[in-house]
Amino acid sequence: MIQGERVFDTHTHIGTARHSGRSFTAEEMLRSMDRHGVDRSLLIPFPVVDDYRAQHDLIGAAVRQWPDRFAGAACLYPFVSEQAFAEEVQRCAETFGFRALKLQPMYQALNPVSKRSDFFFAAAQANRMAVVAHTGSGVPFSLPSLYIAAARRFPDVPIVLGHAGGPLLMLECVVAAEVCPNIYIEVSSLMPHHVAELLHQVPASRLMAGSDLPESVETEIGKIFTLAISPEDRRAILWETGARLFGA
Ligand SMILES: [Zn+2]
Repeated sequence: MIQGERVFDTHTHIGTARHSGRSFTAEEMLRSMDRHGVDRSLLIPFPVVDDYRAQHDLIGAAVRQWPDRFAGAACLYPFVSEQAFAEEVQRCAETFGFRALKLQPMYQALNPVSKRSDFFFAAAQANRMAVVAHTGSGVPFSLPSLYIAAARRFPDVPIVLGHAGGPLLMLECVVAAEVCPNIYIEVSSLMPHHVAELLHQVPASRLMAGSDLPESVETEIGKIFTLAISPEDRRAILWETGARLFGA
C-alpha cells in the first residue's frame, strides 16, 4: 500500500529478454514490490525470448507460489502456427490461470485491423483473457486507433492499450476508448498532466497504472499521487480497474 491505497501494477516483466538483455526474477520482483508498496502485479513475459513456454512456466510458477501478489499474462510470437498459438494460450489459462494475452507489435508485427489477426483475439476470448497491446513505439501496428477494429470484432474481449500510445498518440486512445466500451488504457510513459487530461474524457474505471520496468515504479506509480483528482478516481486507477480485469 502507498498512502493507504492498494496498488496494482498492471505492467511488469519477469524472465529473460533477448532484445534488451534484461533479466528479472519473481523474487526480485517481490522485493521491488515490497520496497515500493506495490500489492499486486501483472507479470508479462518479455516480447523476445528464447523459449516462450519456459517463460510462461516461470510466470506460472510465480503465480502459483504467490497468488495474492501476482497475476499472469501470456506473450508469444504470433506467427507460430495458429494451432500452436491457440494451444499455448489455452495451456496458460488452464494450467496457470493467466488473465491476459500481450501483444508487442514492435517485435510482433501483427496487424490488428486485418481479420487475419482474428486468431489472436479469439485465443483471448476463448480463455476469458484481456488483450494487452503495447502502443506507441512500433508504428504502424502499435497505433492505438488500430485497436478499434479488433475491439469491434471482439466486443467481449477487454483490450488494454499499454503506455496509452505515449504522449504523442494519447489522443488516439481517447478516441478509441470513446467509441469502444471494451477499450482500457494503461498510463505508463505519460506525464502526470497527460493522465489528468485523459481523465477529462475517459472514466477512471477504464484507466490503470503500470510501471513496465522496476526502475520506473517510483515515477509511474508516484505520478498518480501527484494528481489533483478525486480519491475514487485515484483508487480506480491504482487498484480497481486492474483488479477487475486481471483478478485480485
Ligand atoms: Zn513492457
